[in-house]
Amino acid sequence: MKSWPKTMTVCGIPYSVVYVSSAAEVDSDNQALDLWGQADHSLSQIRLRTHSRKGAAISPEQMLATLLHEALHAMFVQHKLLKVDLSGNADTEDFIDTFAHLWADLLVRNGIVELPAKPKKKSK
Ligand SMILES: [Zn+2]
Repeated sequence: MKSWPKTMTVCGIPYSVVYVSSAAEVDSDNQALDLWGQADHSLSQIRLRTHSRKGAAISPEQMLATLLHEALHAMFVQHKLLKVDLSGNADTEDFIDTFAHLWADLLVRNGIVELPAKPKKKSK
């Protein structure tokens, strides 16, 4: 990856990928959660957070894991896996997050994906 993608096609559906700096900008449902990312299926949009609550840049490895996490949500919704993932069900979150981190580690550790630096500025 030379740069962070602005779009990502998941199961044939193009999602825009938007980089934001705060949890509030990630969370379109205003759940007041400390979210790292969110897949918004109605907008075909994935929002990824670039900074922690304390303002530190999120590592490229964490951003890749979050991007894969949100892509998995999109896949699960589109293929109706795990009884449709829209509820924020904790078991579903754990399953998705574990697989996202395993895949991110696999891809980076084996040189399949080379991570770009974090995005310099947010786009909307
Ligand atoms: Zn999730």
